[in-house]
Amino acid sequence: MLTATDLVKDYPVRGGDGVVHALAGVSLAVGDGETLGIVGESGCGKSTLAKLLVRLEDPTSGRVELDGVDLTELRGPALRQQRRHIQMLFQDPYASLNPRLRVGQALGEVLSVHRLADGRQRERRVGELLEMVGLGAPFGARYPHELSGGQRQRVGIARALAVEPKVLLLDEPVSALDVSVRAEIMNLLVDLRRDLGLSYVFISHDVAMVRHISDRVAVMYLGRVVEVGDWKSVLDNPRHPYTAALCAAVPAPNPELSQPIEATVSGEVPNPAAPPSGCPFHPRCPLAQDDCRRLDPALLPLPLSSGHQVACHVAAEQVSDRSAQLAPSG
Ligand code: SF4
Ligand code: MG
Repeated sequence: MLTATDLVKDYPVRGGDGVVHALAGVSLAVGDGETLGIVGESGCGKSTLAKLLVRLEDPTSGRVELDGVDLTELRGPALRQQRRHIQMLFQDPYASLNPRLRVGQALGEVLSVHRLADGRQRERRVGELLEMVGLGAPFGARYPHELSGGQRQRVGIARALAVEPKVLLLDEPVSALDVSVRAEIMNLLVDLRRDLGLSYVFISHDVAMVRHISDRVAVMYLGRVVEVGDWKSVLDNPRHPYTAALCAAVPAPNPELSQPIEATVSGEVPNPAAPPSGCPFHPRCPLAQDDCRRLDPALLPLPLSSGHQVACHVAAEQVSDRSAQLAPSG
């Protein structure tokens, strides 16, 4: 189980003395064998969150724990040992493959560095990994430039799996690929999760993709989680006006009718160096009220729902009105 507690990440503004609040206190949990989808527009903090979860960067404050071990406290060999359990798959596998190494050499190197296999055993394991991702052992002899985008992403997946991780962090894993191969890679990921009992954190701006793969979904806006819950309640019955706009842009029965999010919500994502007062969504929110400009809504569980949480004054009120109506009178 991977948990993040109150993660804050500030970056200094270049050439100035301010800070950008890339993450403003994010808490999340991913259970064993579960896929948590994280969705939001670019600049919402998704990629920063990914970097903190795999410890590529340190949080300004907050904790990341894997099976109860606080990763933010670890250094040196202990960190390397734990980091193995959380692997990241990048959007562009080409950028992360050494062009001078054959695929088999690259995978073999990972096995050696982590002392997982040597000699004959290593060769066999490389073949196994290539089979697992649907390429087959002969692909070990190829160079990255001899592979298609989809094949390269399969190699990226094989390399992530080589160290036998518990959690895979997938940051827009198919957005750089041809539309025609996206479904294949998504299906491969679904199969691998089931067969290997992996947990996924699936990060994307694409609601249809997140809907396809996630058990639970967290919606991010301006460095915070504004809504979270099981995928069906969040995406079919969104309570936060921002989630509603994201979903309206991608109609579930006809995702081919998708429009850009700009079609369903006005205005742009505010500058995270100068976030709006109160609710960070208020300048774009069709339901904004006076309170929204002053008070930052906390992420709170909706009554009568299991695990569905929302950070919105108006959504919270609507629900308490409704539960009052549902309550037996007299
Ligand atoms: Fe809109 Fe107010 Fe809810 Fe923020 S708190 S999403 S501004 S209604
Ligand atoms: Mg990003």
